[in-house]
Amino acid sequence: MQTTTRIPLTERRLAPVERLHRAGAAVTASFEFFPPRTPELARGLEETVDRLRPLHPTFVSVTYGAGGTTRDETLDTVIALSRLGLRVAAHLTCVGHTRGEVRDIAARYLDHGVDRILALRGDLPADYGSPPTDGLDHAADLVHELRDCGVPHVAVAAFPEGHPESGFDIEREIENLLRKEAAGATQAITQFCLDNEAILRFHDRARRAGVTLEIVPGILPVANVAQTRAFAIKVGASIPDWLDRLYDGLDDEQPTRDLVAAALAAEQCADLAAHGLGHVHFYTLNRAPLTYAVCRVLGMRVRL
Ligand SMILES: Cc1cc2nc3c(=O)[nH]c(=O)nc-3n(C[C@H](O)[C@H](O)[C@H](O)COP(=O)(O)OP(=O)(O)OC[C@H]3O[C@@H](n4cnc5c(N)ncnc54)[C@H](O)[C@@H]3O)c2cc1C
Repeated sequence: MQTTTRIPLTERRLAPVERLHRAGAAVTASFEFFPPRTPELARGLEETVDRLRPLHPTFVSVTYGAGGTTRDETLDTVIALSRLGLRVAAHLTCVGHTRGEVRDIAARYLDHGVDRILALRGDLPADYGSPPTDGLDHAADLVHELRDCGVPHVAVAAFPEGHPESGFDIEREIENLLRKEAAGATQAITQFCLDNEAILRFHDRARRAGVTLEIVPGILPVANVAQTRAFAIKVGASIPDWLDRLYDGLDDEQPTRDLVAAALAAEQCADLAAHGLGHVHFYTLNRAPLTYAVCRVLGMRVRL
């Protein structure tokens, strides 16, 4: 029989969540949503927002289909959320858009009091033709354009495990982050990453290279390993082997998978907070229960 060695009480280390609460440290969170495309999905998002809003997120964000495929839906969702009193960051991708188009979109957001944009390049669809002549090649160019339009807060993406197009070369991603900051970015949000070592190493290397903007870890509570793996392969994130073992045999037990996911994500966030990264960005997939549970474990409270 396998046994575990008992650690003497005097050497006991506090678990991340316990350490967080004993220190009285506060964690803050932001939430990502995607714009709903059917009435049923719209009702789902409404319920999700009703549940998460009382936790007072620092901001919420709404994704944008590269090439403008959700242009109107993103705009409508952003405006609806901001009317609820939430601070909203509208995602905007530059791929396939002209400078004029992105300036027009930025102006519409500013007119509606939305002062925060997450500037991304977006991924080129397989059947993408030639780019517009007056287009923008990279996210840093979009940041520059948005700042020039008067957008006060422009966030950008960061990739702790590297990006497929740079051959997962972290050095090149940090150089790119420096370009984004030089163009006027005010915050970076990371691709989801399940490996805190990778996040903290990336953070330290970025700081040593001169990046000063806030780097916010992107958190995806994993309730379905197969689905997460498919997504991870697309974006170049890694899934640790031990995670497969953890979920082995739970295919038909969603409630258990949810509990496991919430426990792991809470531990991940508390550990990040212990290392100075006390603001986390949740990929909610438009569902509230997991994110809500994790935020509660982290000490966030409902305030109506
Ligand atoms: C938090 C977050 C939110 C996201 N939201 C969306 C969304 O709403 N919609 C969507 O379509 N996608 C979204 N994405 C995905 C993102 O658009 C893709 O990952 C895209 O491939 C990279 O975007 P970027 O903004 O970092 O692009 P870029 O900064 O343009 O980088 C893309 C690649 O080009 C390289 N590169 C950049 N500049 C140069 C240069 N001058 N010379 C040489 N190489 C260069 C970079 O190193 C990188 O490998 C999101 C990603 C994150 C992390």
